[in-house]
Amino acid sequence: MESNPFGSRKDAQENHRNINVDVVIIGAGPSGAIAASLLHKQGKQVLVLEKQHFPRFSIGESLLPYCMQFIEQAGMLEAVEQAGFQFKNGAAFRHDGTYTTFNFTDKFTEGPGTTFQVQRGQFDKLLADTAASQGVEIHYDHSINEIDLGLDSTSEPKLSVTDEQNNTYQVTAKYVLDASGFGRVLPRLLDLEKPSDLPARSAIFTHIEDNITDPNFDREKILISVHPTQKDIWYWLIPFSDGRCSVGVVAEPHLIEHHQSGVEGGSEAELEQQLWQLINEEPGLEALLANAKVLQPCASLKGYSANVSTLATSQFALLGNAGEFLDPVFSSGVTIAMQSASMAVETLVKQLDGEDVNWQQDYAQPLMQGVDTFRTYVQAWYDGRFQDVIFYEDPNPTIKQMICSILAGYAWDTKNPFVKDSERRLNMIVDLCRDHTKAS
Ligand code: FAD
Repeated sequence: MESNPFGSRKDAQENHRNINVDVVIIGAGPSGAIAASLLHKQGKQVLVLEKQHFPRFSIGESLLPYCMQFIEQAGMLEAVEQAGFQFKNGAAFRHDGTYTTFNFTDKFTEGPGTTFQVQRGQFDKLLADTAASQGVEIHYDHSINEIDLGLDSTSEPKLSVTDEQNNTYQVTAKYVLDASGFGRVLPRLLDLEKPSDLPARSAIFTHIEDNITDPNFDREKILISVHPTQKDIWYWLIPFSDGRCSVGVVAEPHLIEHHQSGVEGGSEAELEQQLWQLINEEPGLEALLANAKVLQPCASLKGYSANVSTLATSQFALLGNAGEFLDPVFSSGVTIAMQSASMAVETLVKQLDGEDVNWQQDYAQPLMQGVDTFRTYVQAWYDGRFQDVIFYEDPNPTIKQMICSILAGYAWDTKNPFVKDSERRLNMIVDLCRDHTKAS
């Protein structure tokens, strides 16, 4: 029988023995599970330490087709396809009676054009379980408390870990991947936090039994609705395959507070009241959800956009939300998380095999290419420019395909002019749409 490279977990905890691995991954969400699987496939010893017990709730339920490539690379495609998640083929947008759709199969960049809308508790557990079935070791209910990077950049990082019984043990690794999402473990412990260049926004959300009877409602698309008078307030409606939906609203905190009904504090009841008050201000959504039943307490997140001063060094790299998180509007979070996992693993395997790597050039810069593309479109969404393009009535089909590629997650395809030169191209098209709309 093959010996367990970690020794028995019980031994390690009881004897406070130091565990040695090639790579320790903090967090078993999408970025952690994909990275773990890809490293394991390359013969590297990986240990994943996850603070929570799975399944656990997570927001971020609408995937983009581009991420299917990483799921396939990690050997998880069959498991995901067979799990019964809601098929997704695009995105629908609605504002003030105007409804428009993007069909992700009709896009500029080659690659998968469909994906799924997933309950993240179930989805994340499926990815982590599949990684485990491939041979990846995952310790649940184990949380990282401290990291010691040693004397210089060639030292092996040492992590202090607490298990479910509050025992502490040490893990020494040649490299650390921080996939801790909003936990942002290394940014906190190593003082890497940097404010986001996007203003703070808040989200209120829940799951509902939607009871939607409108025959025109397309369950295969996420629906993004815009508030009729305040264009920077928007709503998501993400249908699942079981007659339920994830529904949420996003706005700058003061705009949500402005809608507060006088009930004190951020109680679940107050959040629910606020959410429905805002939903009822958007007549299309109000009609669609007239018979909806709330299934779980409403939750809120405030100021979730985040950034860091350093994404990677020769000792650690930040994946997914542990690095930068932009904004939920284009459902890009899981895709960026998986792209970062794939890119970091490629660089890391070279380093572990003794090749020279440059984490800035090989990982941080190429990753930021796509993140910056999304940033351009996020900023233009909130200042109204991109909304004028999305709701333009007579789009040029080729340009629509290029924009569709970005909405489908292909934000790293520099053959797409709207990726390569995103700000300038977007502004050109904004001017054209605005001129035509004025003239007509
Ligand atoms: P996570 O999925 O957050 O996983 C991190 C894991 O690390 C967790 O399981 C956590 O328990 C663990 N962890 C934390 N601290 C520690 C520790 N100390 N020790 C060990 N483990 C630890 N993205 C989309 O793709 N589609 C969407 O529709 C979408 N909607 C969103 C809506 C809102 C309002 C917000 C705020 C975000 C949304 N996102 C969406 C973004 C998405 O939620 C994240 O980008 C995605 O979950 C990031 O994955 P990850 O692997 O980086 O981190």
